[in-house]
Amino acid sequence: MTTTSADGNLFIVAAPSGAGKSSLIRALLERHTDGSMQVSVSCTTRAPRPGEEHGVHYHFLDVATFQRKIEENEFYEWAKVFDNYYGTSRRVIEETLSQGIDVFLDIDWQGARQVREAYPQAQSIFIVPPSLEVLEHRLRHRGQDSDEVIAGRMSKAQAEMSHYHEFDYLLVNDDFDETLANLEHIVLARRQRMALQQARHAAKLKDLLANDG
Ligand code: 5GP
Repeated sequence: MTTTSADGNLFIVAAPSGAGKSSLIRALLERHTDGSMQVSVSCTTRAPRPGEEHGVHYHFLDVATFQRKIEENEFYEWAKVFDNYYGTSRRVIEETLSQGIDVFLDIDWQGARQVREAYPQAQSIFIVPPSLEVLEHRLRHRGQDSDEVIAGRMSKAQAEMSHYHEFDYLLVNDDFDETLANLEHIVLARRQRMALQQARHAAKLKDLLANDG
């Protein structure tokens, strides 16, 4: 991707299911309604869950369509996460960043690796729950699932968590508001990076450094 210093920031957010990732991203976006940040809507081959809408939560595609998009290099990254394909549209990410808008990618560790390689400026954040007990409690309260289903979710969560050290930041989501504040600090700090500030404040910096005599 060709980038300029005025581009938006790309944030990768990964977590095991049950760590609170989606709620944190949603809450952050609700605090910043000025159009300065967006979450990328991924494509997936998994079936919609009750309440999920096409184009809002995901673009729900069949496997053949997804595979055609892979062949046509339409994905910025894609991965098979357990039994389904997931991918991020290249065009949407590039267009959004070039408008100076920050983008959040809610993706797994495999996608995170691909994005880091393609775009080293991306900042990656991993969110973990405070304990396995809390995680199990959160996964149980999602529905009326059997112990076997819960055990499967726990082992998938641990597989995802084993990659935490590949990320730039680690958030332990014990207290939601505190985690949200920490996530916001990371994003706001990143917005002050030198190259971006130089582009934004070129005239001001010129004035500040002008000879006064
Ligand atoms: P779920 O099916 O529960 O919505 O998501 C399952 C996993 O797939 C989550 O870890 C989620 O972050 C990940 N995921 C969602 N969209 C993408 C994507 O576009 N690319 C990759 N690599 N992972 C994704």
